[in-house]
Amino acid sequence: MAEIINPADMLEDERHSYFMKQALAMGESALLCGETPVGCVLVYQDKIVGSGMNDTNRSMNGTRHAEFLAIAEFLQVYPKSVLQQTDLYVTVEPCIMCASALRQYRIRKVYFGCANDRFGGTGGVLTIHSDPSIDRGYPIQGGIFREDAIMLLRRFYIQENEKAPNPRPKKNRELNTTFENGDGFVPTA
Ligand SMILES: [Zn+2]
Repeated sequence: MAEIINPADMLEDERHSYFMKQALAMGESALLCGETPVGCVLVYQDKIVGSGMNDTNRSMNGTRHAEFLAIAEFLQVYPKSVLQQTDLYVTVEPCIMCASALRQYRIRKVYFGCANDRFGGTGGVLTIHSDPSIDRGYPIQGGIFREDAIMLLRRFYIQENEKAPNPRPKKNRELNTTFENGDGFVPTA
């Protein structure tokens, strides 16, 4: 019989790990579908109430980011106001578009894996979550399973390069498994 895991009984760190693993699993699904591997879950009262993975390639819609899909799923069941007591766990720092949407939806807190050095809206490039504004910002916590989130992205870019008509030399296609301090999400690296 499978052990029943109740996140409510976990210590705080265990709970963050538990939910980030679910987000990473969504990212893994995205990778299998040929999407940029970013996954997320929404958590309300220790329960996953929405999940999403990037879906921009299949839908040919550049705004179908993991966060938007999770929120759409959430809103099928819950009113928007419940997002004020809901946390987001996402493998990569939200982009500027998503960071802004999350603020407008009044998300309670955002936990992420690795930074998004090119498009990040919660510290990577801009600080949408904390900029002074008429509405309330939200706190963030990054670095949860950061290396796992980066490895997902690296696997994706290697796979994409192999599909390209003129792949880059082999030495650039080997999976880099080392991590520098401050290493974030650098899609062109
Ligand atoms: Zn986004």
